[in-house]
Amino acid sequence: ELRESQRRNPPLGSHAAAPMEDVVRVHASSGTTGTPSFIGLTAYDASRWSECIARSYWAQGLRPGSVFAMGLSIGFFVGGLPVAAAVEAVGATLLPIGTGASDRLIAAIRATKADVLATTPSYAIYLAELAREEMGLDPAALGIRRVMVGAEPGGGVPAIRAQIEESWGARCTEAIGIADLITIHSAECEARDGCHFMVPDYLIMEIVDPETGAVIPPDRPEIEGELVFTHIDRECNPMLRFRTRDRVIVKTGPCACGRTGPRLRCIGRADDMLILRGVNVWPSAVRDVVAGFHPEATGEMLIRVDGEGPKVDPPLRVRVEAGSAAGEGLAVRIEQAIRARLIVQARVELVPRGVLPRTEMKAKLVERNIS
Ligand SMILES: [Zn+2]
Repeated sequence: ELRESQRRNPPLGSHAAAPMEDVVRVHASSGTTGTPSFIGLTAYDASRWSECIARSYWAQGLRPGSVFAMGLSIGFFVGGLPVAAAVEAVGATLLPIGTGASDRLIAAIRATKADVLATTPSYAIYLAELAREEMGLDPAALGIRRVMVGAEPGGGVPAIRAQIEESWGARCTEAIGIADLITIHSAECEARDGCHFMVPDYLIMEIVDPETGAVIPPDRPEIEGELVFTHIDRECNPMLRFRTRDRVIVKTGPCACGRTGPRLRCIGRADDMLILRGVNVWPSAVRDVVAGFHPEATGEMLIRVDGEGPKVDPPLRVRVEAGSAAGEGLAVRIEQAIRARLIVQARVELVPRGVLPRTEMKAKLVERNIS
């Protein structure tokens, strides 16, 4: 719908509620379909974003005096300039390094004694691997105390989080957002019991039944459904009941930190879910099982499916990268673990380290063979 609106009325679409001369910046979201959608911000929108994102970084422990190494792509990506502005709004020191120069990022962390690293979960793991294996450095000795991750699922996956924390000798917290709405709408606090919804003055949040669209009332300690948002303070490109396709579990009770708002845990995107003989399988859950085999496996994996899904014929085909210490019968043990935890039959193919593509943006978990 958004892309159609932008095709008819380029560049920002018929939902651009502000004239182009008031738009100070345009971002793009890659989306899942491949056609980018453009996101226009007026000066007011940009300042609201940085204020709202700054709150989320504060909740994650960013303070004046922190040195923030930014390992997020700068360019068009909503995790670039808006994050930079938010870090400056907190009063921390920003190192706007971006991606694409991983060795320089590590060198800058060393030289400036940066204590915060912000990146995607997969890039955090990649950087630690690079420091250790190509630069001869122990990432845990670099002085990073907090790794703040987002932009892809994984930060909330226990085994991936454990791997990041162990590699960097740091505490890992996660934040979540949606490009078309705001870079970050929810972030973890010190208690790490779900991501606090941080922007009730900017977005109205609803949880709906993904099948029927009916609103699920927050009348229980935990509810599950799809996240839907409406902008209430946006000048350009406001969204009305935007279906995020993100499946979440929402905790409605108070948190140990004292904040009282709802807390979210993303369990996957509706588009990614696979169904094997009636069993729902989230690719991120498969990655969680695989990550539990570190260091026998690197943690990188790719599910291969025929067709567009979500229905897939068993066995689930998973390529897994063997790590430095791969023991006997690793593939079979991973298959057994997937069966035990996710109740689906899997066939694991081991491939050598470095074969699966590494990304600096969102890790790809599923490869679809569409004929
Ligand atoms: Zn809290």
